[in-house]
Amino acid sequence: MTRTAVATAAPTAVLTSRDVPRSEIEPEPRPAYERVLVAVFVAVPLLALIVAVPLAWGWGLGWHDVVLAVSFYCISGLGVSMGLHLAIEGPVIAWVADHRRHHKYSDKDGDPHSPWRFGNDWKALSKGLVFAHVGWLFDGDVTSAERFCPDWLADSDVSSVSRWFPGLVAVSLLAPALIGGLWSMSWHGAVTAFFWATLVRIAFLHHITWSINSICHTFGKKEFEVRDKSRNVSWLAILSFGESWHNLHHADPTCARHGVLKGQIDIAARTIWLVEKLGWAYDVRWPDEARLATKQAAETRQFGSMTRRAAAGPIG
Ligand SMILES: [Zn+2]
Ligand SMILES: [Zn+2]
Repeated sequence: MTRTAVATAAPTAVLTSRDVPRSEIEPEPRPAYERVLVAVFVAVPLLALIVAVPLAWGWGLGWHDVVLAVSFYCISGLGVSMGLHLAIEGPVIAWVADHRRHHKYSDKDGDPHSPWRFGNDWKALSKGLVFAHVGWLFDGDVTSAERFCPDWLADSDVSSVSRWFPGLVAVSLLAPALIGGLWSMSWHGAVTAFFWATLVRIAFLHHITWSINSICHTFGKKEFEVRDKSRNVSWLAILSFGESWHNLHHADPTCARHGVLKGQIDIAARTIWLVEKLGWAYDVRWPDEARLATKQAAETRQFGSMTRRAAAGPIG
């Protein structure tokens, strides 16, 4: 169906969450084995995380493990923020398709993961929070990549990265064990590195990433005008590398820095800034004082660095 056809169909039909235009959903539902795989990737690292605490005081944790876990957390976490995908969160094109559908329908019928899906009372919202956090991953409806990502499908580099998803998963799973084993020259080092820098690291990163869909659409501050429930959540800023300044992201989706106000730490934005300085990125869309001033909910806060000032011009 074309874009016009969707636009004319939408107002006449009352869409429920499960009844988005069929052109936006893949014809084949998500196969059962894929849902089982999702369950394994959700449950196993989570169980590992629970076992992790008593183990920390035992034989199984050394500084090698801590260094590897933190390093891989940052590499895979910044990957999520910046567009690489070592974080085991699905092939990149499927991820972008869901993400674009989320922006199109944010907290309305058709949003793949809104915590407000079932209603506003506390019971509906608790159910919605669980759904937005992990439940939606088990939803049978697969967002149509053809409908939402024709540009990315046409890009051969991106498509090959997407096809290489199983290979990237293998690297993300096994590299810590390999490095840990070689570093300590022992099987024991490989096993503990796999536990901490693979299982615990992935579990932690998954929950932080999912919090953007659940917590950052429910709790936090509305600092910019949006038509959805996206909010800025300061306590998740460092662990999410700046993704939790989610209210600004919805107010100005193509802006490279999400934590645009003074004091809002945004590690991913600083990394992109560095990459741009090195000449590896160009045409980065930095915050713009004039553009954002009209979107600010209350003009009480100053913009931070990397902002294009209305008067001064150069980027600070
Ligand atoms: Zn987004
Ligand atoms: Zn959002």
